[in-house]
Amino acid sequence: MKNKVCQSCGMGLDQENDRGTNKDQSKSDDFCIYCFNDGEFTKEDLTFDEMVDISLRYSKAYQNAASEAEKNHIKDLTKDYMSGLKRWKKKDDGCDCHHCHCHK
Ligand SMILES: [Zn+2]
Repeated sequence: MKNKVCQSCGMGLDQENDRGTNKDQSKSDDFCIYCFNDGEFTKEDLTFDEMVDISLRYSKAYQNAASEAEKNHIKDLTKDYMSGLKRWKKKDDGCDCHHCHCHK
């Protein structure tokens, strides 16, 4: 469990207690407790943009940014980072299910 991050919101999963639970109550390797509970996303309908907004709300750098331009820059970086997470990756690998945590 080193350097794992939640594949939905991007927070670190270093602590056992930070990890979400699968249906069988085992710990999820991919998602944190805030995003994933009992084998389901806690906010099933959340969109990518909403998740970016939530993430920025917790970002000190973003909240303390001196200018709009700086905020936009941080937002772009956050989007870049989060679009690489499993939940938000473009479904271009043959997976046509509604969500992408089915691992294809
Ligand atoms: Zn998460």
